[in-house]
Amino acid sequence: MKNIVLFGPPGVGKGTQANFLRDLYQLIHISTGDVFRYNIKNNTALGILAKSYMDNGDLVPDEVTINMLEAEVDKNSNANGFIFDGFPRTTSQATALDAFLNAKNAPIKAMIALEVPQEILVERLVNRGLTSDRPDDQNEEKIRHRFNEYKTKTAVLIDYYTKQNKFHSVNGVGSLEEITKRLQKVLDAL
Ligand code: AMP
Repeated sequence: MKNIVLFGPPGVGKGTQANFLRDLYQLIHISTGDVFRYNIKNNTALGILAKSYMDNGDLVPDEVTINMLEAEVDKNSNANGFIFDGFPRTTSQATALDAFLNAKNAPIKAMIALEVPQEILVERLVNRGLTSDRPDDQNEEKIRHRFNEYKTKTAVLIDYYTKQNKFHSVNGVGSLEEITKRLQKVLDAL
């Protein structure tokens, strides 16, 4: 079973690449951002709770996010493995994920971080905001706030997975195909 965390700051290409890897390795792709957006669209209690945090570019509280993620995993009990995209984003989420997956004898195999310079990412997100209806992509101040959330709460997970010998870094600048190939090289060697 290959359980992979696809990691990196907003706009780095996690969602796009996760879709390719899902098809190549028959994995289930779970994007916590997508699950929240689905709930917002359908006006569920979870969506209503998450919306104010998301619209401001803040992280949704850990307990809510962890419960949601675990429910998504349990919906797919026959899976070959999972690509986690946008989760974990805090140390509490990472320790909860480890406990949850270890109890299933299906630990995280690798955390693969996509690396792209921040100024390129801001530009990408401002451009994405021109065509997407995501409120958190609509202004540069919110985009910069999301980077700040990443730096202060999420980036520490690089150390967390390095200590477990699970950290891999992949250059996220290049064509989509080039980046997929770099990711495949890491996945095939696991
Ligand atoms: P994303 O689609 O991954 O960029 O996530 C969009 C927004 O959803 C984030 O800015 C957060 O508000 C929320 N979100 C997604 N995943 C998480 C998570 N693991 N923990 C807390 N908030 C999250």
